[in-house]
Amino acid sequence: MGSLFITSALLPVPHGFATRTGGVSEGRFASLNLGFTVGDVRERVEENYRRLAAAAGAPLGSLHLVKQVHGDRVLQAGAGEASQALRPAIGDADALFTEHAGNWVGVSTADCVPVLLVDPEGKRVAAVHSGWRGTDADVSARAVDALVARGTRPERLLVAVGPCIQQCCYVVSPELARHFATRFGSDVVVARGDEFRLDLARAVVLTLRRVGVKVGNMDVLQECTSCDSSRFFSHRRDTGRTGRHINFVVHRF
Ligand SMILES: [Zn+2]
Repeated sequence: MGSLFITSALLPVPHGFATRTGGVSEGRFASLNLGFTVGDVRERVEENYRRLAAAAGAPLGSLHLVKQVHGDRVLQAGAGEASQALRPAIGDADALFTEHAGNWVGVSTADCVPVLLVDPEGKRVAAVHSGWRGTDADVSARAVDALVARGTRPERLLVAVGPCIQQCCYVVSPELARHFATRFGSDVVVARGDEFRLDLARAVVLTLRRVGVKVGNMDVLQECTSCDSSRFFSHRRDTGRTGRHINFVVHRF
C-alpha cells in the first residue's frame, strides 16, 4: 500500500492531498474514494475515512468539511471532538478555516483546484475548493480575506496548490477561455489550433498574489488528475462516474 496522500515540503503542519491509493473501494471508486454521494458503498467510504484519519494522525471527530457549492463563501470551523465519528458538513461553502488546535479542515475534489493555506504566525489553517466557478469568484482571495480579518498577515501565509486538471487536459469553450483571459491575463489560456486549454491553477496563483501572498510562499504541485488515472480520480476523464479526493490540513503547530 503506497502513501495515501501527497504533501508539500512548504507547509509546516500535517496536511495532504489524498490520492486514490490505500482504500477499500472497488471498481471506478478504487480505492480511496472519500465521496459519499457518488454511488459508492457507504461502509467502504467510511473505512476510507478511517484510514485517512489514521494516516493524518488526527481524529475523524475533529475533521471539518463543507457542502461544496462552487461559490465564494468561507466558513470558520468551531471545535471538534476527539471521537472517531465523522461530523456532518458545517454548511454550504467552498472554503473553511480553523483556529482550534488539533482540528483539521478539508475540501473534496476530482479535477478542481485544492488550496491549503497555513498561517504559522497567527496559527490558522484553511482549505479551499476552487473549480472554474470558484476561481472566477476569487474564492481563494475570500479565504485570505477571512484569515486577514482574524489577524493574519497575508505576506506570512504559506500556500500549497494541489493536484488538479492541468492545462494539458483542461480544454474549455472559446467563450470561457476568453472570459478567463480577460479576468486573469492571457497566460492562463493556451491555444492549440482551435482548442483552448485553461490553466486554472495559474489563475488561482494570480488571485492569491493580488491579495498579498508572496510567490515564494506558494508551492504549486504539477500533478494532473486527468493524466494520471493510477493515482487520481478525474471527473472529466471518467465522465462524472468517479470518486472524490479529500485535501486536508491539520491545526498542529
Ligand atoms: Zn493532464
